[in-house]
Amino acid sequence: MLGVIDELLERNAGYAARFDGELPPQPAKQLAVVACMDSRIEPWAAFGLSRGEAHVLRNAGARVTDDVMRSLVVSVHLLGVKAIAVVGHTGCGLTGRGNSEIAAAVESHVGVDLGDYDFLVVDDINQAVQDDAARLRRDPLFAGVEVGGLLFDIATGRLTRLS
Ligand SMILES: [Zn+2]
Repeated sequence: MLGVIDELLERNAGYAARFDGELPPQPAKQLAVVACMDSRIEPWAAFGLSRGEAHVLRNAGARVTDDVMRSLVVSVHLLGVKAIAVVGHTGCGLTGRGNSEIAAAVESHVGVDLGDYDFLVVDDINQAVQDDAARLRRDPLFAGVEVGGLLFDIATGRLTRLS
């Protein structure tokens, strides 16, 4: 039986057969999207984007972390990005949980004590998206960049602008 990774390599054969070749590294829509890693969200399809049009940065909760900032600096200052969309979603797994609940799961699985590790859990996803968008807007690193805070409805597929 194939493991998942080998299954993916098999599936890739069909993709590579249809692949349309090289594109410039600068995203054609001059756009970066920060989205949650949730497997029910397809950023490319949801935004009507094609390959080569946007940077898509994903993590748990669509949080603007230091590493997201690192990537966005590269997007904006090396690769011509002029707009950033922060996209949270309804039903996010990081809402309604505490850091201690996640830490307890880790400890029960592998016996590692994470102490007070901050998983950037979210009380109110609408507020978190707006706060993260505001963080980008006021950062001089992103002066002149258009920033939008959006919410993706996991039940309807609809996007709403929050800020
Ligand atoms: Zn999520």
